[in-house]
Amino acid sequence: DEITVGELAARMKMTAANIIKKLMGLGVMASISDTIDYDTAFLVASELGCAPEKEVVVTIEERLFEEEEDKNEDLVTRSPIVVVMGHVDHGKTSLLDAIRHASVTSTEAGGITQHIGAYKVKVGDGEITFLDTPGHEAFTAMRARGALMTDIAILVVAADDGIMPQTVEAINHAKAAGVSIIVAINKMDKPEANPDRVMQELTEYELVPEEWGGDVICVPVSAATKQGIDTLLEMVQLTADVKELKANPNRMAKGAVIEAKLDKGRGPVATVLVQNGTLHRGDVVIAGTAVGRVRAMTDENGRRLEEAGPATPVEITGLAEVPAAGDDFNAVENEKLARELVEKRRYQQKQEQFNSYQKVTLENLFSQIEQGESKELSIIVKADVQGSVEAVRQSLEKLSNDEVKVRVIHGAVGAITESDVMLAEASSAIIVGFNVRPDPLARNRAEEAGVDLRLYRVIYDAIEDVESAMKGMLAPKI
Ligand code: GDP
Repeated sequence: DEITVGELAARMKMTAANIIKKLMGLGVMASISDTIDYDTAFLVASELGCAPEKEVVVTIEERLFEEEEDKNEDLVTRSPIVVVMGHVDHGKTSLLDAIRHASVTSTEAGGITQHIGAYKVKVGDGEITFLDTPGHEAFTAMRARGALMTDIAILVVAADDGIMPQTVEAINHAKAAGVSIIVAINKMDKPEANPDRVMQELTEYELVPEEWGGDVICVPVSAATKQGIDTLLEMVQLTADVKELKANPNRMAKGAVIEAKLDKGRGPVATVLVQNGTLHRGDVVIAGTAVGRVRAMTDENGRRLEEAGPATPVEITGLAEVPAAGDDFNAVENEKLARELVEKRRYQQKQEQFNSYQKVTLENLFSQIEQGESKELSIIVKADVQGSVEAVRQSLEKLSNDEVKVRVIHGAVGAITESDVMLAEASSAIIVGFNVRPDPLARNRAEEAGVDLRLYRVIYDAIEDVESAMKGMLAPKI
């Protein structure tokens, strides 16, 4: 738990003199070969405004979490974790309901289904875990907090309506996260249903249906009549099989918080999704800045569980405070260390509020390129007309060179929204707007999160700014 000044300097890629000076400022006299304790090292690293190198930061985590790689012989197949996305009113909620009811077995029928944020359904010999808060906003909000738990996104498109603005958002949010997309063409019971048109429109977003030689599975369904639901579930299972999803049930549990709230009677209640390992009643867990011992654990049918394995969502009580959706959680052996880690996380959160150094901005782009940290500049383009979106996308992407690839991860017509900012946050992207403004929520969130948001009236100015930033010649923002 100690480190020499020289080693700290090396890990921080700084001169020892710099560190020694800072230490003196803190009242610690040390030479290059002296050792300092972890807390001091951490303080120095943070005060020097540089992101402390992983090796320095993770010390408590290393002591606390089992970080060794899972051995192949310990790995077993786990169920896929699936989210449903799509335009409003295209049937996301109805589809989640239909799926849930399609799979209620007689033994479960006695249980009272509860909304805990996720549920599991049986498909053949396997199972599928659904996150039951549909929509890309919730998905990306969690991703912005660092949680990527989803393997597959079901994109719901109403067959009578086709691809709409939020369908495009959903596609781009799912693509930015790198999850597989399966398309459910919904409302097939309607006489106006036109699945061919939906498939045609999908190709415009680089989603080419299998029927037409591509690799995107499209399943016609009706949430109303339940037509196609079984096929959809089989296709999800098939996609999961190809992905060979594995987990190790024989380790301490880790995963992410899906939902959390304060319950009058039970105190803080959180639904956690176990991604790896097995969670047991009585385990000490740390979720974000909340610590506690799992007092009770229930599934979505209100049944009490003693343990929960990989890809299982469970509601737990026993945490001392309410964590946030998207926080990671870990079961740990050492409660005292867990409390120390919470202190450290609180401190880090405060630090992060002050400096948003990890965020990509046009200002720091060049130094990140030089340090080899940025190989890609992701941009979200919003404009008042579709023509501008396309013109800007093409011009910006053409700026790509050997060092940096410029990629427009989402482009659309309309004001800059909170969902755009979350996507930027989660994907380390910047936002460029033409003749549009951020709405107030988006503006606040961008400020808080340190997302670089730039507004232009002329396309040429934006191109010039990005180009200069790539060369390290950007004029300071006024
Ligand atoms: P969401 O906003 O995407 O969650 O959409 P909802 O699930 O709330 O559905 C919007 C509307 O479409 C509701 O009135 C549903 O009853 C209707 N709806 C959903 N699925 C179907 C379907 O398969 N067929 C028909 N005819 N209507 C549907």
